[in-house]
Amino acid sequence: MAAVRVRRRVMVAASLLASSALIGGVLVASPTDAAPTAGALTGKTVFLDPGHQGSAAGQNLSKQVNDGRGGTKDCQTTGTTAVGGKTEHTINWEVAQLVKAALESKGARVLMSRKDDTGWGGCVDERAEAASRSGADLAVSLHADSTSQGADPGKSGFHMIVPTLPIPDKAVDAVQAGEGRKASNTVRDALKKAGIAPANYGGAIDGVVTRPDIAGSNLTRVPLAFIEMGNLSDPADAAVLSTPQGATKYAVAITDGITDYLGGRASAANPTAPAPDPNAKPTDPAAPPAESTSPDLSGLSGVEAIGPLIDQLAKAKSPQEAQKILMTQGQDVSADVLKAILAVVYAVFGGKLPI
Ligand SMILES: [Zn+2]
Repeated sequence: MAAVRVRRRVMVAASLLASSALIGGVLVASPTDAAPTAGALTGKTVFLDPGHQGSAAGQNLSKQVNDGRGGTKDCQTTGTTAVGGKTEHTINWEVAQLVKAALESKGARVLMSRKDDTGWGGCVDERAEAASRSGADLAVSLHADSTSQGADPGKSGFHMIVPTLPIPDKAVDAVQAGEGRKASNTVRDALKKAGIAPANYGGAIDGVVTRPDIAGSNLTRVPLAFIEMGNLSDPADAAVLSTPQGATKYAVAITDGITDYLGGRASAANPTAPAPDPNAKPTDPAAPPAESTSPDLSGLSGVEAIGPLIDQLAKAKSPQEAQKILMTQGQDVSADVLKAILAVVYAVFGGKLPI
């Protein structure tokens, strides 16, 4: 049984490589690789909102817009910048592109809140309205946090932001208290399963922070999972989220969470959980996954194996060598994840796999 499954996985990898071409020393995906295919998410629509924007030129960021709580707030913010210099809006954009490619490889229809990482992407209320009008089965907002202007080592990990209940709009309240919370918990559980530690700061309880001030949560009429992927003030989180390998790991974990939610494997909503105690001690950070210096990936689960696997693919000197790596080292990675890896790696490297 196991041998059959392994063979099928290898065939998927080999066929994907075969559908690509070596041009000028780089492996370029054929255009058909990006086309949505029939899969586990066929018929499902996901609205992805990479937070912030490439440029706010000509826009008034402080224009006051509906905050969903009877007041107003700024239209947008520029987002933060990682220790090391990479902007949050680009990190959000890249992970969103990876998640988009991975979801499309499973057959989902994916809509984006903004069309690029160079221009404007709309105020927060406009994005919530776009998500609502899309009728998506799930909306996912991607962000990364900051806790300081400079480096702030030690405050690390991801968290989901869920709205303080009740939300004044009864329809939004019903959706976010139920399905939105289920989706948030499901994505949280997928990230934990991938070895990404929940936040150890900011009052996070098991990777969830409850806040009243996120307009998207207060206004979106489809289920919303709002992710702060890490703390860009923490050098370790910043370093991981700033690399294609790290972004890919987050993207695949988020994709797994979305797939679980849309596939009827959602975690419980627990909307009646008590409000967080402001004096509660934050969740202990999980032990960080050990840095893999060994080429042996056999002990790692699918998502954990992705980073080292991409490192190895990047070092391969020929497509044949890359194919061999996938055939020998990719055996513990599920076929779906392998498909996603190749699709997303093409996206993260601008359509090229650097081999
Ligand atoms: Zn943000």
